[in-house]
Amino acid sequence: MKRVFLETYGCQMNVADSELMAGVLQRAGMEMVERAEDADAVILNTCAIREHAELRVLGRLGEFAHLKSKNPALIVGVAGCMAQHLRKRLLDQKRVLDLVVGPDGYRDLPALLQRAANVPTAEIRLDRDETYGDLEPKRQPGVRAWVTVQRGCDKFCTYCVVPYTRGRERSLPLADLVRQVESAAAQGFCEIVFLGQTVNSYHDGTHDFADLLRAASAVPGVLRVRYTSPHPSDMSERVIAAMAECDKVMPHVHLPLQSGSDAILEAMQRTYSITQFEDVLGRIRAQIPGVAVTTDVIVGFPGESDADFEATRAFMQRARFDSAFLFKYSARPDTRAYKLAETVDETEKGRRLQVLIDEQHAISGEIMDGYLNRTIEVLVDGPSNRGKADQPPQLYGKSREFKTVVWPDDGSPAGTLQQVKIVGTTHLTLLGESVGTPRPEPLITIGVS
Ligand code: SF4
Repeated sequence: MKRVFLETYGCQMNVADSELMAGVLQRAGMEMVERAEDADAVILNTCAIREHAELRVLGRLGEFAHLKSKNPALIVGVAGCMAQHLRKRLLDQKRVLDLVVGPDGYRDLPALLQRAANVPTAEIRLDRDETYGDLEPKRQPGVRAWVTVQRGCDKFCTYCVVPYTRGRERSLPLADLVRQVESAAAQGFCEIVFLGQTVNSYHDGTHDFADLLRAASAVPGVLRVRYTSPHPSDMSERVIAAMAECDKVMPHVHLPLQSGSDAILEAMQRTYSITQFEDVLGRIRAQIPGVAVTTDVIVGFPGESDADFEATRAFMQRARFDSAFLFKYSARPDTRAYKLAETVDETEKGRRLQVLIDEQHAISGEIMDGYLNRTIEVLVDGPSNRGKADQPPQLYGKSREFKTVVWPDDGSPAGTLQQVKIVGTTHLTLLGESVGTPRPEPLITIGVS
């Protein structure tokens, strides 16, 4: 078996896991291919967070069943959270599936694939010690390297499957992570994005997340450092200070709120009250000038009353997040909330969601309008796919606050910092015109008095 097709669903941590798997497979002499039709083995790296993602994966397995009917030697595998979460059901689908491998089984993937060629194979044990800290991923091309700093989660929010699918929280040693950052920088990646389920609870026994941010921003070749997603309860003064003091740590925090009601936060077991969240938000905004704060909110959690929803709505008006990922609650098997009776029907969930979407769009639009006529630093990602065939080519990149900026192609190379003047906005995108590369630091002149 030589050629492997790997398809990724879900969050950025899954994308990083796919890069890890690709590294493991290539070191074993296997080749990654772009089309399932060209592969000896296909692996779906899956997500179990929402029912919708699972349904998409099951639909895709149906397509692979069709491929396998034409090529019976094809190995079909499922990896990731869904493999862990739905292991029994997946193994029952023997007519399609040859391999099920959970998030802690990737180190042995080449051997597992070889075995699956002969006998249906499952590796779904969770391993409290596995961090893959010593394995080099095969990164997708681009300017941004995603570096997983911890695996698993200890928070056990009542609606979430992650602690069950990815196991308990463990952090990679800081030295391993600095080595990964150095390696990524040497390959030309100039922005590092640290990933973890509760990334700011990172602690390797000696160093905390603030130490990691400071260490990464000191690595030569690194222009920017970001992270996602922190947990509000773990947002320490040390992390806020590291963000405030390190110019290369970008002023953007994705701080998941989930609900604006204390009763619902407690039912979700989020471990903070609205007052505590507001306190964290206030400290972040006071100490990090110009910081962008984005969030996640779930509507329709079991027991969410009109008053609870109105509390969320009011809080979002008060907090004025730069943007928000807004979701309808979706009950996941194996979670504690799954046992709770649903009290908000789909129509009402949809109504609540739409109210928040409309109000957040207005707030996001106002915040974006605040960029008009400002000249800002942008890291160039490359050509924008927004440009239509009959329009002049455009570039896109990210502001320091992680806002997407699009401007006419001025030949700026990917991976460089450019100055762009903002001349238009949408609620999602800043539209700019080029001003050129940043001026070098002025020579220091010593005044004589
Ligand atoms: S913090 Fe809560 S929502 Fe986030 S991964 Fe852990 S259990 Fe899930």
